[in-house]
Amino acid sequence: MSDDKFGREMHKVNCSDCGKETEVPFKPDGDRPVYCRDCYQKHKKPSFNRGGRDRY
Ligand SMILES: [Zn+2]
Repeated sequence: MSDDKFGREMHKVNCSDCGKETEVPFKPDGDRPVYCRDCYQKHKKPSFNRGGRDRY
């Protein structure tokens, strides 16, 4: 028996934006920010933004 039900492991992280604990299906490399679902939507770059980097 494996707890790896979906074939991928989830990693607990704290959202880089709101600080809320969340799980991500990839291994955080500590190098880039990890966001919860809400913040991920918020930080996803809009296709019309060709600058690439948003700064807040
Ligand atoms: Zn968040």
